[in-house]
Amino acid sequence: SEKLRDKTVLVMGLGKFGGGADAALYASKFAQKVTVTDLSNRDSLPQADALEAKDIQLVLGEHRESDFTECDVLIVNPAIAEDNRFVRKAEESGALVTSSIALFFQQCKGKIVGVTGSNGKSTTTSLIYHLLFYASKQNCIEGNVFLSGNIGNLPLLEILAQIGENDIAVLEISSFQAEQLDKFGLGPWAAVITNLTPNHLDRHGTFQNYCNAKKKLFLNQPEDGVSFLNRDDEVSAGWFEELKNTRKTVLYSSKSLPAEMIEKFNLPGEANKSNLAAAAAAAEELGIDRQTLSLALPSFKALPHRLQLTAEKNGVRWYNDSISTTPESTIAGAEAFSNPVILIAGGYDKKIPFDKMARVVSKRIKYAVLIGDTAEKIKELIESSPKNQCRVYLAGSLENACLKAWEKAEAGDNILLSPACASYDMFESFKQRGEIFTELAERITGND
Ligand code: ADP
Repeated sequence: SEKLRDKTVLVMGLGKFGGGADAALYASKFAQKVTVTDLSNRDSLPQADALEAKDIQLVLGEHRESDFTECDVLIVNPAIAEDNRFVRKAEESGALVTSSIALFFQQCKGKIVGVTGSNGKSTTTSLIYHLLFYASKQNCIEGNVFLSGNIGNLPLLEILAQIGENDIAVLEISSFQAEQLDKFGLGPWAAVITNLTPNHLDRHGTFQNYCNAKKKLFLNQPEDGVSFLNRDDEVSAGWFEELKNTRKTVLYSSKSLPAEMIEKFNLPGEANKSNLAAAAAAAEELGIDRQTLSLALPSFKALPHRLQLTAEKNGVRWYNDSISTTPESTIAGAEAFSNPVILIAGGYDKKIPFDKMARVVSKRIKYAVLIGDTAEKIKELIESSPKNQCRVYLAGSLENACLKAWEKAEAGDNILLSPACASYDMFESFKQRGEIFTELAERITGND
């Protein structure tokens, strides 16, 4: 990349998915000097030795102002706020402030499909990738397909050089990354939005600001690009009139899915049908016929910790939805099944309102077994809902919760872990919470 050639490059922020290390390794191919800085320490950087072996300097546990005032190019992690004082310093000193996502878009030779939204991004992104990958194996489309972005597999810049003109990159894009793209007037060939509900308001302030950030993915698409909006989502569907004047705009809907596609699709729930409708619309636009789409669907499995079927015994199915850290995703989980549901929920208290979730739970859930800091609060809300039909139990641990759920379960029931809360009060991460749930489910059903 000419922007980096012979320059002094500073990478700020390691990032959840190794994005900082990826950016540093990429920059080291061109730059004269590369430094990575992060407030966390060396333990948070598994690639530390590998980076140093490439002469990349590490400044960990602190940010040094001189690194920012002396760099030519600053590559910032999407999680870093625009008004960060160190970023300001670099800008004032004349540095080019950029990001991995912008560098990727500026140089990617293939078509880019970008997926954003509040819920369902990872599922929709993976499903588009799955459909395209299947079609490419069947020679229905030319070229190879890549999956990357905010989804935790191969980092963006690592795959950049492999992507040729006929290839397609399918990327999950956060609102922060959408903002970073807009700054350089960049946008994907296909932009897909799943839905918009209040989230990350700690960073964006108001819902309006948050929606505007997501919308930025749609503002700079190429002229021959296509926008995909959800007809069933009020806010994004409302962009249709404006966007359709500038480029092809498709309104997809879970209500218009052909029956044969729904039959072939294994993921439960209305929300997942909406993800399917988005993915199918994008794949069709890329030239994949409906028959091929239907053939590709049965092999698509739920992503780990997302309404994932983890055990089945005596007609009772256990579903791990540990990634649910918001009331909206638990509502989606509770509404996903036509069978009776025994819900395990509760966790770290982010001080978000559970009123709406409690109302849905009181109507749709047979038993709720609650754990964690929010257990009491959710219990009260469920029990004070008008015409509550849900019996509530408090369980001190996930193990006790699973045992209680199994005790109450009858053939045909689903036991669903969908906490609506972050995991930090009792676990290291949602991943660990889901893994422990899976082990417990296997043990309890195996023992019985
Ligand atoms: P994201 O990447 O946007 O966080 P995921 O696909 O990882 O979305 O799903 C996260 C959670 O949201 C899961 O609990 C899942 O069941 C739920 N979910 C998935 N799709 C939707 C949707 N379209 N609407 C509401 N909730 C959804």
